[in-house]
Amino acid sequence: MSIFSHPAYDKHEQVAFYQDAKSGLKAIIAVHNTNLGPSLGGCRMWPYADDGEALNDVLRLSRGMTYKSAMAGLKLGGGKAVIIGDPRQQKTPELLRAMGDFINTLGGRYITAEDSGTSVEDMHLIGEHTRFVSGLNESSEHGGDPSPSTAYGVFVGLRAAVEHRWGRTDLNGLRVSVQGVGNVGFRLAKLLKEAGAELFVTDIFQDNIDRAVDELGATAVGADEIFDLDVDLFAPCAMGAILNDDTISRLKAGAIAGAANNQLAEERHAEVLREKGILYAPDYVINAGGIIDVYYQQQGGYDPAQVKEHIETIGTTMQEVFRRADENGETTAHVADRVAEERFGHEDAPKKTDSAAA
Ligand code: NAD
Repeated sequence: MSIFSHPAYDKHEQVAFYQDAKSGLKAIIAVHNTNLGPSLGGCRMWPYADDGEALNDVLRLSRGMTYKSAMAGLKLGGGKAVIIGDPRQQKTPELLRAMGDFINTLGGRYITAEDSGTSVEDMHLIGEHTRFVSGLNESSEHGGDPSPSTAYGVFVGLRAAVEHRWGRTDLNGLRVSVQGVGNVGFRLAKLLKEAGAELFVTDIFQDNIDRAVDELGATAVGADEIFDLDVDLFAPCAMGAILNDDTISRLKAGAIAGAANNQLAEERHAEVLREKGILYAPDYVINAGGIIDVYYQQQGGYDPAQVKEHIETIGTTMQEVFRRADENGETTAHVADRVAEERFGHEDAPKKTDSAAA
């Protein structure tokens, strides 16, 4: 397996591997870039089919964190950790404490937080062996869980997309489909309901669907049917790569704004969306509410009003990305990448001659 010439390596500063035979921990930490500050990103636990799959995932995710934090105006770099294993069967307190030891070896260049397969409780166990852990602030309204802030940020960014696409500031009667009504998707759906939107939801778990139907009056649709609906806006909140040749050709929505990471199956799909007249809110810009929340938890003195105010800047950043994409005839994804690269000082970034997005 190649490392430095790996397709997803992209100038990573550091990639560390760790094995603790006693607890069974096998983990990788990737630090993509620390130009703006220490790298911060979640710790994912997943039963990867092989080591190569885990490496690919951690490299792609840590790079994404550099772009996300830069775009959110945070003094943070990008990093991520993966633990190879099934969280339902192999996660033990010993394994999590060993993960804390691993994180400690990087001396603060990487700060961890919860992600798929890890929870706030897990962060407390990791935190027994390292102080470089965030997302466990009891004073935040939600005990450290970043999902409510992610949902709020997506809601703010979604409103900016609606305003740009249709020139309206209200969401009354807007038909929105939400793919995945889990931690973020359900909270987003709730905010949309309160704003007067009409909801269509899908999930792979029936109880999640039932909750959205019972509590929010949403209409349940099939997992595949979600791509064919006659809706105004599509909010992907489940998993990545759902914007591909097949789904884009079926979508009738005029805008896409959701929480899922890595929504575009390939970079070129941003252009396919643009040609089809579908406004795409770049995923790492719109879903930055969680990292903003975690950043303030890490700083100490968590002030919910300050966090909310920062999350609301996602709206202005998004408007600026949309405006620049229109002006330059570029995709929104490309504009976001360029602005982020200008901010974190990517060596291929254009020199800072034009104004960066807010
Ligand atoms: P979650 O696991 O709580 O929710 C995801 C939901 O999607 C689950 O209910 C799951 O059953 C459903 N789902 C999975 N596959 C599906 C499919 N094929 N069709 C329909 N539904 C499906 O996760 P979450 O924390 O809500 O995160 C949702 C997305 O947002 C993920 O892509 C995550 O990486 C991204 N994200 C989350 C945060 C956060 O703060 N939680 C921050 C940034 C990005």
